[in-house]
Amino acid sequence: MPETFKAILVSRDTEKKQSVAVTDLTEDDLMEGDVTVAVEATTVNYKDGLAISGKAPVIRRWPLVPGIDFAGTVVSSSHADWRKGDKVILNGWGVGETHFGAYAERARVKGDWLVPLPQGMSPHDAMAIGTAGYTAMLCVIALERHGIVPDRGPVVVTGAAGGVGSVAVSILSSLGYHVIASTGRSAESPYLIDLGAAEVIARDELAQPARPLAKERWAGGVDAVGSHTLANVLSMTSYGGAVAACGLAGGMDLPTSVAPFILRGVSLLGIDSVMAPKAVRLEAWRRIGTDLDLHKLASLSTTIGFDGIIDAAHDIVDGKIRGRVVVDM
Ligand code: NDP
Repeated sequence: MPETFKAILVSRDTEKKQSVAVTDLTEDDLMEGDVTVAVEATTVNYKDGLAISGKAPVIRRWPLVPGIDFAGTVVSSSHADWRKGDKVILNGWGVGETHFGAYAERARVKGDWLVPLPQGMSPHDAMAIGTAGYTAMLCVIALERHGIVPDRGPVVVTGAAGGVGSVAVSILSSLGYHVIASTGRSAESPYLIDLGAAEVIARDELAQPARPLAKERWAGGVDAVGSHTLANVLSMTSYGGAVAACGLAGGMDLPTSVAPFILRGVSLLGIDSVMAPKAVRLEAWRRIGTDLDLHKLASLSTTIGFDGIIDAAHDIVDGKIRGRVVVDM
């Protein structure tokens, strides 16, 4: 009898009604790939919440094991870069969307999708950072490339108490930026100040339809929310500033005008973590190793077991999760 392992499987019936179940799989059930990994830690991201709840069409292959990121140990490999025992991280590449993902004790993936676990970082730490943290780092790098250094003025982070937002606040403050954290949960102000926010503002300040241009408040920002929030952030960005847009927690639309771009030279920097090339990933993980305070990381993450994944997935789309959720398998 082949060895079995636990997995979450999302299926769809003939009427396209989605259901989620915990099941046992064998390695024969896994999809094609040249590296098999024992998954030791994973996370619950907003995207995983959308996949499990069915609130957005994240899953595009049925049935599917969801889960867009994991860290673990290679158990077998026919890929030149990886050998049994290597510690690895995976973020994105369609895993948990079109390829069986992280919510199983085993994952088989392409070796080209993996990056090495940085020295001194445990699988748990790597997943406390996870795709949200790696995306936050991509946003910070994009702002830096645009010349948004701390001397240029404050930076705003929206969806600040969420996963991307919490890590962005933490990294930006460690780098010396004056961080303005925007949150809908005023009770999370002490948490955000602990992470390094210099000011906390209410989500409502940025939630109404934006004027083409408003008073300049910041040199740039990291936006995890989209919609009116991003439109307001853009309209309040000072001359020559830049905003890294990575999320849609408030909506997929962007009801803005060209005014910030053509009258203030503001730039909108698009951030995608899923298909980012390997060199970009290696740079982001290297920078996380140097610029993210691992002590702060502990305060921004909650740990659950495999059995808590489905509930946490629903909670994250309901906006009830603070910071990062790490799953120790
Ligand atoms: P979280 O759910 O952890 O964080 C999202 C935060 O957004 C919430 O905590 C909340 O922050 C805020 N928020 C939620 N709903 C609303 C709303 N209706 N209006 C305004 N603000 C709201 O998710 P993640 O941090 O994991 O992801 C954030 C976003 O980034 C998601 O849209 C996700 O899909 C996207 N993402 C994109 C990636 C990419 O490659 N581009 C990679 C990773 C994530 P608060 O309570 O502080 O207001």
